[in-house]
Amino acid sequence: MKMHNFNSGPSILPQEVLNQAAEAVLNFNNIGLSLLEIGHRTSWFQDVLDESRSLIKELMQLGEEHEALYLHGGATTQFMQVPMNLLDDGETAAYCDNGIWGSKAIKEAKLFGNVNVVASSKDKNHTYINKGFEIPATSKYLHYTTNNTVEGTQWHALPETNVPLVADMSSDIFSRNMPFAKHSLIYAGAQKNMGAAGVTLVVVKKDVLGKIKRAIPPIMDYRIHIENGSLLNTPPVFAVYVSLLTLRWIKKEGGLAEMEKRAKERAEYLYNALDSLPLFVPTVNKEDRSFMNAVFVMQRPELEQPFLDECKKNGMVGVKGHRSVGGLRVSMYNAMPMDSVKAFVELMTEFNNKNL
Ligand code: PLP
Repeated sequence: MKMHNFNSGPSILPQEVLNQAAEAVLNFNNIGLSLLEIGHRTSWFQDVLDESRSLIKELMQLGEEHEALYLHGGATTQFMQVPMNLLDDGETAAYCDNGIWGSKAIKEAKLFGNVNVVASSKDKNHTYINKGFEIPATSKYLHYTTNNTVEGTQWHALPETNVPLVADMSSDIFSRNMPFAKHSLIYAGAQKNMGAAGVTLVVVKKDVLGKIKRAIPPIMDYRIHIENGSLLNTPPVFAVYVSLLTLRWIKKEGGLAEMEKRAKERAEYLYNALDSLPLFVPTVNKEDRSFMNAVFVMQRPELEQPFLDECKKNGMVGVKGHRSVGGLRVSMYNAMPMDSVKAFVELMTEFNNKNL
C-alpha cells in the first residue's frame, strides 16, 4: 500500500535523500567504509560539515557576521542555551507565548533572568498569533516561535522590533524565504524540514555573544562551538550528513522560493477543503494558519476515531493531533508530495459525504 506520511516530526524526507543516506551507511562516497565508521575529524567528514554550513548560509543569504552551527540536544536544549548565553541575572528578555513550545522556552529562560511575556494567545487556546504588542527597548532580545507545530499557527510577517530577534524555527525552517539576516539567533531541530533527528541547527550573529558575566560550560557556550567549527566534541555524523543531503535537495529543487510555492499550494488545497466540508472544522484564525501543520477537529467528536481508522486503512499516518490539544493535525513539510494532500482531501470528502 502507498503510504502518506503526515507525521509532525520526525517526518517525511525526499525519497532520493533516503536512498543516498542508505547508500552512505553501506559505503560512504565509494571509500569502502560506512558513514557510521568514519572519524569526525577526517577530511571526509570535514567536507560534509563545510558544505552543509555553507549551503545553510547560502539558502539563508547570510554574510560573515552570522555563523551556522550543528549542535546536539534538540531545540529543547536551545530553550535554556539561548538565555544561558544571552541573558544575565537581573536582565529582562521579551518572549511571545504563542503555544506549547514557546511556553516551554519561557519556563527555561526564567532560570537565567527575568522574562517579560509581551504577547500571549493563551486566552484563546493559542488559536491565533497575538501581534499587537510593545517591546521595551531595554529587552535583551525578543524570542518567538515562527511556526507553532502543535497549535497550527504561523507568523506570516516578522515581529517589528529593534531589539535582537531570536526565533525557534524548528517546524518551518527552509520552507520559505524569510529575513533571516534580521535575526540575531535562529535555532531548529533538523527532524522536520532539514533532515533526521539528532542534530540542531543554530545560526547566531556573533555580535550578540560575550555580553554576559556568567560562566558558561564549554559545551553550552556558542563562542566555543564557533571557535571549534562545530567539532568541539563528536557531532552526530549521520544526522549531519542527512541534513547535507536534504539541503542539496532543497537547492536542486529551486531553493526556498520553490519550497514556499509548494507549501502554499499544499496548504491552500487542504484549507479549501476544510472550509467547505462541514464535518471538518479548522481551529485556527484564518490569517494565522500554518502552511506546515493544519489543525482541525471533527464537528461531531464521536467521528474522530472512525475517521482515524479510515486514514490508517488508506496508509495515511500521523493524522492524530498532539496529545496536549487533541483533534487532528496534518503536517505538510517540504518533501510532502501534492498527491498525498490530494489523496487526503479525497478521503475527507468521501467521509464527509457518507456521514453528514
Ligand atoms: N520547537 C518547536 C517549534 C517544535 O515543533 C519542537 C518539536 O516538535 C521543539 C521545539 C522541540 O524539539 P526537539 O524535540 O528537537 O527538542
